[in-house]
Amino acid sequence: MAQDPVKKAADLLRQGATMLGDACPQCGSPLFKLKSGEVVCPEHGRVLVVKSEREELKVKEEVIFSQVEDKLIQGLSKVSSKLEESPEDPEMLTQIIRYLEAIERLKRNR
Ligand SMILES: [Zn+2]
Repeated sequence: MAQDPVKKAADLLRQGATMLGDACPQCGSPLFKLKSGEVVCPEHGRVLVVKSEREELKVKEEVIFSQVEDKLIQGLSKVSSKLEESPEDPEMLTQIIRYLEAIERLKRNR
């Protein structure tokens, strides 16, 4: 006979597992993440959390967006230090405005 899931869940927590917001697709019990990174259901054991392609894409998009944002901010900071050297250069302002626009658009897309 299977172990009482409530007792099993308590055991998992004692072992340092954390309770996830996701539920087991088979029984609906809350899922736990072990220290090893494995996701388990107290009743069914190891569960593979299958994410939809769309969700996966969303995660990738988020990663790319934040990389682009980092680069834009780096670029903006380079241009702004150049602006100190040549504050009269209209080209500098144009570049800054372009960076700011790009950052804003990126934020609007998230
Ligand atoms: Zn389950």
